[in-house]
Amino acid sequence: MASPVAAQAGKLLRRLALRPRLLAPRSQGVQLTSRRWLNLQEYQSKKLMSDNGVRVQRFFVANTASEALEAAKRLNAKEIVLKAQILAGGRGKGVFNSGLKGGVHLTKDPKVVGQLAKQMIGYNLATKQTPKEGVKVNKVMVAEALDISRETYLAILMDRSCNGPVLVGSPQGGVDIEEVAASNPELIFKEQIDIFEGIKDSQAQRMAENLGFLGPLKNQAADQIKKLYNLFLKIDATQVEVNPFGETPEGQVVCFDAKINFDDNAEFRQKDIFAMDDKSENEPIENEAARYDLKYIGLDGNIACFVNGAGLAMATCDIIFLNGGKPANFLDLGGGVKEAQVYQAFKLLTSDPKVEAILVNIFGGIVNCAIIANGITKACRELELKVPLVVRLEVALHGKHGWCMPLRQETENPNRNITHLRKYVIHQNLNQCVPGIFLL
Ligand code: GDP
Ligand code: MN
Repeated sequence: MASPVAAQAGKLLRRLALRPRLLAPRSQGVQLTSRRWLNLQEYQSKKLMSDNGVRVQRFFVANTASEALEAAKRLNAKEIVLKAQILAGGRGKGVFNSGLKGGVHLTKDPKVVGQLAKQMIGYNLATKQTPKEGVKVNKVMVAEALDISRETYLAILMDRSCNGPVLVGSPQGGVDIEEVAASNPELIFKEQIDIFEGIKDSQAQRMAENLGFLGPLKNQAADQIKKLYNLFLKIDATQVEVNPFGETPEGQVVCFDAKINFDDNAEFRQKDIFAMDDKSENEPIENEAARYDLKYIGLDGNIACFVNGAGLAMATCDIIFLNGGKPANFLDLGGGVKEAQVYQAFKLLTSDPKVEAILVNIFGGIVNCAIIANGITKACRELELKVPLVVRLEVALHGKHGWCMPLRQETENPNRNITHLRKYVIHQNLNQCVPGIFLL
């Protein structure tokens, strides 16, 4: 049975839509992780590509219609392609709430670029991968259009089932690759790459051939594939997807589109790339949460969840659903949480007008409950909590051979932590300033 969270969390689905699902069995359903992903727009990904020898079209980025017009004139190209910059795919077939159809337009007239950009910038573009209302377009890419004689699909993914990188390609590109995978699985080709040995010439050549590149185009495509793989490694990507990976009638292999995902754990050594993180499509509250290293995802209910561990957070959302409620958010504090983060998390939750109650569900196996208790009591005192708060702090007892994880501070009496909160509640007379605090 699909979990109620899976059924409800449109936002999560949207995020997942941005992730490679090609190699995952369809029946797997939604996977929820507490990861934040770095998101780059197409123009940023293409800059990384061109800096690393990968062939992309000449382009400019524009924030206004007049900038787009100027860019189109400056490009001085036979034909221009104007592309709305949002983090979701399927833009070509998308629709704007300005009425304009298509997030990707080709024209020979720079003036038309200005007119089209006017109907893109500031409007929402809805595609198969966005929420129904679409995503606001703040920027457009103005690029030199090239004729495309053939569209193929190419991606490099970090794939768990292969324990490493995999090249995935199909001669049927430019379309929704998952549909190809479902209807013509024989048209999906894979090459597993040994991360220590790197990509072999024979693998790049075989993929180029499978993609249908002939004659001199085969070597050119193989060269582009190797360069894309080297970029993938160099920038700690988890996915580089090029759809279409196309060829022109003049005999050039070109990356017409680009989507790169990154390994967030590599932030420390990819500072320049992470500095480009485009958070404009995030909810402000999500950005605020990220500042304090909290894993927060807004949902549309009214009961705030305050939980440690993504699994428990999901289970908690499910329990709320099963009891007829709706979670207002998914907040995973993680294991290494500090008191200040607990306080900030509360601040976030209480500033959300949707929130009518807060449910704290903490498993003390991976955190010290005293930290949580102190954070909560500080928040209660300082934030004038106006909504009911229900707290469950469960402390794991650690037997030598038991399944429970040991407490962080083994010397502490686990039960003290709960008593601690209870004592605070009574001592600070918190019951007077909130409609109710319940300790479970
Ligand atoms: P997506 O719809 O979000 O995946 O955006 P793409 O960048 O893939 O563009 C959608 C489609 O527009 C592509 O599959 C191409 O068919 C077409 N397209 C994009 N750029 C060009 C170009 O420079 N020339 C031509 N002829 N078609 C293009
Ligand atoms: Mn595309």
